[in-house]
Amino acid sequence: MSDKFDVIIVGAGPGGYVAAIRCAQLGLKTACIEKWVDDKKKPKYGGTCLNVGCIPSKALLDSSHKYVEAKNDFDVHGISVKDVKIDVSKMIDRKDGIVTQLTGGITGLFKANGVTGIQGCAQLQGGRKLEVTDIDGKVKIYEADNIILAAGSVPVEIPPAPLDDNIIVDSTGALEFREVPKRLGVIGAGVIGLELGSVWSRLGSEVVVIEALDSFLGMVDQQIAKDAKKILTKQGLDIRLGARLTNAKVVKKGKKSTVTVQYTDSEGDKEQVFDKLIVAVGRKPLSESLLSKDSGVNLDERGFIFVNDYCETDAPGVYAIGDLVRGPMLAHKASEEGVMVAERIVGKKTQMNYDCIPSVIYTHPEIASVGKTEEQLKADGDAYKTGVFPFAASGRAMAANDTAGMVKIIACAETDRILGCHIIGPSAADLVQQIVIAMEFGSSAEDIALTVFGHPTLSEAVHEAALAVEGHAIHIANRRKRK
Ligand code: FAD
Ligand code: AMP
Repeated sequence: MSDKFDVIIVGAGPGGYVAAIRCAQLGLKTACIEKWVDDKKKPKYGGTCLNVGCIPSKALLDSSHKYVEAKNDFDVHGISVKDVKIDVSKMIDRKDGIVTQLTGGITGLFKANGVTGIQGCAQLQGGRKLEVTDIDGKVKIYEADNIILAAGSVPVEIPPAPLDDNIIVDSTGALEFREVPKRLGVIGAGVIGLELGSVWSRLGSEVVVIEALDSFLGMVDQQIAKDAKKILTKQGLDIRLGARLTNAKVVKKGKKSTVTVQYTDSEGDKEQVFDKLIVAVGRKPLSESLLSKDSGVNLDERGFIFVNDYCETDAPGVYAIGDLVRGPMLAHKASEEGVMVAERIVGKKTQMNYDCIPSVIYTHPEIASVGKTEEQLKADGDAYKTGVFPFAASGRAMAANDTAGMVKIIACAETDRILGCHIIGPSAADLVQQIVIAMEFGSSAEDIALTVFGHPTLSEAVHEAALAVEGHAIHIANRRKRK
């Protein structure tokens, strides 16, 4: 087979592998280059998401949630369970099994769709050429009419807390602990810090989360964030805001190592000792090593590959998607960009609606949102109205003994068009999707209010929040009363 392709994709994460499959479906001769290898030196697909991100973290979140339920929450149902124990190694092995199954599944999908998988680390040269170095150091040049860069991102490392891959770890290391650390420090109260902090806290770690900013979950609607902080603190996460890490030093005493962490808050300098420290201070695009000097592709001031609304870079025929480019670092955003680019290559006019990308924090309860927050609308000077419904008033949530949180819908004061939805509560990730679809179709809050919802469902809380926008909620006393 010649080495000339219609499209070559660099990176087989959710951006790259989805783009590759869609390109092949559209009849393009497609290859996907991936540097990650399995133990047989074959390319390992799935990227951050399947290997060390979304999927393994959710596997551990689900396992640890079941443990907490069995330990603390069954009693109320009249179920007594004695001596609930966790076999951490078995939990980690289960997670690894899911990863192997899903990454192997991509190999099968590539075969089924006729995508050529190539193992190697690619660097973009000028003239739509890629220099690819395989695991054995062999270098080969590939050419294509179109190139899609989907090399993703890596965790940010900070000088005060150098990783040692044992005591001080990043998110990848935090998915691999084979024992529950007694004292666990987490640097960064972002999505990843809270999810991984929750996993180990549920299994018994004393977790301290050190966050430089004074505000909690600044990107989340603050009514929801306030509730989240209360609930997570009650669950045992010791969240310290306005606390900036200044130093972390591993101290070895005989066979045991600990880490002494220093941080500064409004009261001055503080020190704390942990058995493990997770550094979760964000991720950065893997852009620099991907581009040769004459690639013709430019970066923005934050190191993301510069692209327009259609993910076209400054080099003709070269596209970039996913964590490499502006916008939220989310798997589904990467995948949809992959589909958009594949379809535009064959001349379709596909576009992405960047205003309708849901995002979720998989704590329990889950925190999910789409669209604008109240804070953003206030800052923009836009007039809006809100409707809120608490899960405490949902029969289905009560039946499940899972009543923390609320649904909040925000609509335009003038047109009633839905501008945002913010949920903290059971199955928030799935519930918010109803409003993502509604927003995609330009629905008003009244459209949702006039829709028939099954009973009893958690979705009824979405219905009631939409009714509450006009003060018509049935199962709570409305703050705003309108006829
Ligand atoms: P990646 O998934 O990073 O894939 C890039 C691929 O390119 C990798 O396989 C890499 O090996 C390969 N590559 C890099 N450079 C080269 C090169 N030069 N040559 C060849 N191959 C190369 N997002 C969500 O939406 N939901 C979640 O619940 C969620 N949870 C997360 C939990 C954790 C712990 C982490 C770390 C991330 C999570 N994310 C989540 C974020 C999500 O994983 C990323 O947004 C997503 O994987 C980005 O997809 P991508 O295709 O752009 O890049
Ligand atoms: P995210 O970008 O959502 O992954 O969140 C990362 C979090 O880490 C942000 O809220 C940052 O404010 C926080 N952070 C970054 N550097 C430090 C630091 N040195 N000490 C404490 N928190 C930090």
